[in-house]
Parts: sequence; structure tokens; C-alpha cells
Amino acid sequence: MPPLAVIHPVSRTVQEKLARLGIADEFDLMLHLPLRYEDETRLYPIRDVPANRTVQIEGVIIRSEIRYRPRRQLVCQVEDASGMLFMRFLNFYGSQVKAYSAGRRVRLLGEARPGFFGAEMVHPKCRIVHENEPLADALTPIYPATAGLSSETIRKLIQQALRQTLGDATGQNYLRETLPDTILRRYRLQSFKDSVIFLHQPSPDASATLLQERAHPAWRRIKFDELLAQQLSMRLHYRQRRSGNAPALAQNNSLTRALLESLPFELTSGQKKAFSEISRDLAAPHPMQRLLQGDVGSGKTVVAALAVLQAIENNCQAALMAPTEILAEQHYQKLSGWLGPLLAPLDMTIAWLSGNQKKKQREVMLANIAGGNAMLAIGTHALFQEQVEFNRLGLVIIDEQHRFGVQQRLALRNKGGEASSTPHQLMMSATPIPRTLSMSYYADLDVSVIDGLPPGRTQVLTKLVADNRRDEVTARVREACRAGKQAYWVCPLIEESEALQLKTALETHQTLNSIFPELKTGLVHGRLPSQEKSAVMESFAQGEIHLLVATTVIEVGVDVPNASLMVIEHAERMGLAQLHQLRGRVGRGAAGGICILLYQNPISAIARERLKIIFEHTDGFEIARQDLRLRGPGEFLGARQSGVPMLRFADLEQDVDLLDAARITAEELLRDHPEAAKRHLQRWLGRKSEYLRV
Ligand code: ADP
Ligand code: MG
Repeated sequence: MPPLAVIHPVSRTVQEKLARLGIADEFDLMLHLPLRYEDETRLYPIRDVPANRTVQIEGVIIRSEIRYRPRRQLVCQVEDASGMLFMRFLNFYGSQVKAYSAGRRVRLLGEARPGFFGAEMVHPKCRIVHENEPLADALTPIYPATAGLSSETIRKLIQQALRQTLGDATGQNYLRETLPDTILRRYRLQSFKDSVIFLHQPSPDASATLLQERAHPAWRRIKFDELLAQQLSMRLHYRQRRSGNAPALAQNNSLTRALLESLPFELTSGQKKAFSEISRDLAAPHPMQRLLQGDVGSGKTVVAALAVLQAIENNCQAALMAPTEILAEQHYQKLSGWLGPLLAPLDMTIAWLSGNQKKKQREVMLANIAGGNAMLAIGTHALFQEQVEFNRLGLVIIDEQHRFGVQQRLALRNKGGEASSTPHQLMMSATPIPRTLSMSYYADLDVSVIDGLPPGRTQVLTKLVADNRRDEVTARVREACRAGKQAYWVCPLIEESEALQLKTALETHQTLNSIFPELKTGLVHGRLPSQEKSAVMESFAQGEIHLLVATTVIEVGVDVPNASLMVIEHAERMGLAQLHQLRGRVGRGAAGGICILLYQNPISAIARERLKIIFEHTDGFEIARQDLRLRGPGEFLGARQSGVPMLRFADLEQDVDLLDAARITAEELLRDHPEAAKRHLQRWLGRKSEYLRV
């Protein structure tokens, strides 16, 4: 595609400004679609001007003056055959005073409202016109603009580009149809070219509401194409990785069955289903790329343990990576308990790697991993550092995958040992991902969902308590601990400063210590040396500590069933996913859990909304859906968004039907019309090659 400057000469400075809007070439310019429209195709008689709607009127200025009360302002009286209204400017230039003088004919575009002297328009768009000046024959698009490049200038550039494109036989390529007729008919899609043209110059009779809400067929076509490009790129990416080689880890059940028999519980049907999907993938000679989803407490770890055993049964190693030391340590303990007795007789071990372990110990672990008698390595991101060499790595499991960047996951995947083979990959997500997101942004993965929680879980009761009622809360904690239960006290999140956060945690611990002299309290935070951290967690797990004061380091994965009460300070500062995770730490045992959210007034509207959602809902999928609604996909996705094409036009909530259609169409195009798929991708993502790499 020729660069913008060739087809459509614009100056260097304009090019730079366009670049700021993400416009690098002609196609980008075509897809710089209006934010909204103004209707300058018709005139309203002043008498009939509706309230609270932007409309256009035309009249003659019969009087114009600067008033000083209540403040300096320019006030003009505009009259047509039907009536009169005031136009008022609170900020104005001398040139405007001159231009809007009595006798001038003007067209005003604005919202009229009742004023002190009668109907008025404040700061309308005002243009001086001649009598019988023709009206616009299309709605006026208003474009996203930037400093030094107004919507009006952009409109001219686009109109000019459109004329050139349509007049020029080769230029038509920009808007050429990429989709086969069958698809267009099936989903009643109008042509791409017509849609783009229409959105830049909609006819006067177009429904303003449909345009505004982006529900007009022209909008739908653009959104469909965008979603389709995303699906195509994700599916291609998926296919490409899937076409590699991986060790086929057959299901021979020697170890997995032994684990199932030794567990004190039976798998839920959701766990069984998820493991059977994973197990089937592992048996294939191509790398699995599966995301295991399930609400907090749904029991993902045991499913991961089964997958590990299936690898070991085939004499392959597995690696399990967790985002925090505490979580990695806890996995290590849990999995040592479950797998240790099965592996010991086979002379196999489990290795543990962390950033701040002793050099000696680390060397032993590294030797075990390289030598191949450590069949499972558990750790933090220390796992994918260069010195770590596996003997035969067959399976990589990443817990809380959203915490890791794309790069970190790739690094671990590349540790397969033999260059020709890639390990299978299982990702686990702590917080559920809404269906629409996993269908779009996770379309490069297969997804298993554990639905339902293990039986016997009691619902956690959530209470919202204003900070000035702390006393009631401490009384409650005392009572619970006296009755033999344990509690968490979660310190406020202080995003601005880690030092301040630490200080707050220390102070909170001290204060609580003096409030509860009869209780044994403990403190964990991110800065604690790992040995101390695990010592504290261990004695909390053993019941020696009654009240654990903690920063949000305990957010993920921590599992102490006897802890049934949690107090979260400054809950209004925390995100929904975080609150849901934290709350998931209680209510794991038989006793019903209670989660007290302390908040400090005044709180912002959005914080209020978050607290309301967490108060009203316990289902993680529903909370995630609401979170997506509040924050939008960009923020929700966090680290994942790097390398994944973001959506500009489609809205996952509003356009689910289009997403479904695009998903089906992507598969169909790749199968039956690979050329069309290629053209489509080229058009939407071709120039942004980084999208296709990861
Ligand atoms: P998450 O999905 O949040 O990672 P975990 O794997 O930590 O959940 O499991 C939460 C708790 O539930 C653990 O104590 C685990 O041993 C227990 N658990 C897992 N599966 C079952 C089951 N089928 N029945 C009873 N308890 C289970
Ligand atoms: Mg977990």
C-alpha cells in the first residue's frame, strides 16, 4: 500500500499530527470514523426548536451587545419569521463581537434551553451565511481530533481521500470487498465500501440514533470486519503453534489413578471434565495451549496435579510457575503432600526454585532438574531464568497467567530441551474471564471451564462497614478467634508508594497487637524474607497464629480452611478481581465465611459501584462480567493486551452476535477461502506485524 504522502500529499507536520491519531496511511484515514454527527441538513423554525436536542436554526441578528452582569458576556438576539432567541457567549474574541453584529444572517447549531429572557443557545456553533445558502446534504461527521488538527480539517482530508480513492481504479483496492458473497448474505452484511462511505457521509434520512449507538448496518459491517480480523489472527496464531511437535503424553493412568485414590475427596464433575480435556490434549503429539478457568476455590490445583502426573507417567518433567513466592511455596507444599508419596518409591523428587533461596540449595535444585530426577519444578519466575535447564520438559503450567507478560510465558515454553519439541502448556486463571473476552482475546487458546465449586462450601457473607464503626469489627474478630476460628486482616493497598504500604502494614500490626493482647498475631508482607514469610504462613496454617495481618500478598491462592473471617481495610481502593480473590480466601472450610469490607467515606462513584457489585454477587463469572463493563477490555486484560489486537470499534457487550458470527466465519474462511482470509488480515493487521508474532 503506497504511503499516505504519495497518494494524498500532506505536509510533514500534518503527517505527524495524523500519526498522533494513529493514522499512518490511506486505510487508517478511511477507518478514522466519526465520533458523532451533527445535523446541518435542515433548519428548525425558532418557534419549534425542541428542548435538549442539538438542532440548527437560521436568523438575522437584530441586536448584539456585551453585557457585564452577572459577568462579561456577548449576547445577541436572533430572529426568524417564527420567533426569536438569544445566543450567548461567555468566552469570546473581539473578532466575534465584530462578526456577530446586527443585520448579519447566521446559522446556529446548538441546544436551546429556557433562559432568563426567553429561549437561548449558549456557545452554539455559529456561521455567517447568505440568504438561501444551500444546506449540507449529509450529516456532518465529527472526528476524533488532536491539537492543531481539527475535526474539520480531518473531514476535508477524508473527503478528499474518498474522492481520490473512488475516482481511481487502483485506489479502489482500499475499499475492495474481502468477503465471499455467501458470508455477506448469511449475516446480512452490506458492502465494506458502502459502509465506509456511508459513515463518512451519511444521508440526511439516516437514523441518528442508530448511527450514534453504532448499531447502523454500516457500523455493524465495520465491527464485524474488525472482529473477524481479530479472530483470524488469533486462530492462525493458534494453528501455527499447534502445528509444532510436542511429546505425546499418553494416558496410562498409573500415577493419576493412584492420586485420585489417595485424595480425601472426589473430583467434581467440572474438574473431571476439565481434566479429561487436558488429558486428551496431552496425549496428542502437538503442543497443548489450554486455559483452565474456574472460580476462586473451584479446585484448579488438583487438576493441574493430575496433568503433572500424566507427564511424569510418560517420563517427562513438568514445571509449575506461580506469580508470588507465597503461592509458589504453597503449591510446593500441597503438591509435595499429594505427589511426594507417589514419586518417592520411583526415586523421583520435586524441586523448588525461588528468587531468594540460598545459593547452595539452588544449585542442588538446578542439578536435580537438569539431571532429570526432579520430575516437577515449582517456583516463581525464577523458573525461566537462563541457568535453569530441564532434562525433558513436557508440560509447563502457569498459575494466575494474567500476572505474567507474554515474554515470560514464551521464555518458559522455550525450555523444552530438544529444539524440535515444545512442551504442552496449561494456563490457569484465578479470576474468571467473561465469556465474550475469552471468545475474543483468548481465541488463540483452548479453554476448559470448571463450573461449580466442590460440595460443602458455604457462602461467604459479605458486610460493608464504614470505617467509623471499626469497634464493632474488632469485637467480631475477637469473638471469632475466641471460638477457635482464625482471621485475616488485610491492610490497605497504597499504590503510590510501596514504602508507605509497608509502614501501614507494620503500624496496623502493632495497633492490632495492642487491641488483641490475648491473641497471637502474625504479619506477612511482600518485603519479608522468604523464609520468614513461609514460617509465618506455616504457623498460620497450623493454627498457631489466630490473626494474620497481611498486605495483598495473600490475594492469590492462599488456602487455609480454618480461616473463616476476613477484614479488608480501605476496600474502596481495591479492584473487583482483587476483592473477589481476597474474599475467596475465606469460606474454604466447613464453617461459613465472613468478609468485612471496611471503607472510608467519602468514596467515589465508581468505588461505590464496585463495593455494591462485590456485596451483591459471589459468582466470579458475574463479577468479572461487571468488572469488564466498568473498566473495558483494555484494563481488564492487563498484561495480556500486549501483542493482542485490541478492538477499536466493536463492543463486546453490545456486539456478541457479531462476535459469534466472526468466530464461525474465521474458521470457515481459513478452511474454504484462505485467499479471502489473507486479504482480510492484510487489510486490517497486515501493517501491524507485531500482532501476528506472539
Ligand atoms: P483454586 O481453583 O482457587 O486454585 P484450589 O485448587 O486452591 O482452588 O482448591 C481449593 C480447595 O479445595 C483446596 O483446599 C483443595 O484441596 C480443595 N478441593 C479441590 N477439589 C476438591 C473437591 N473435588 N472436593 C473437595 N475439596 C476440593
Ligand atoms: Mg489457585
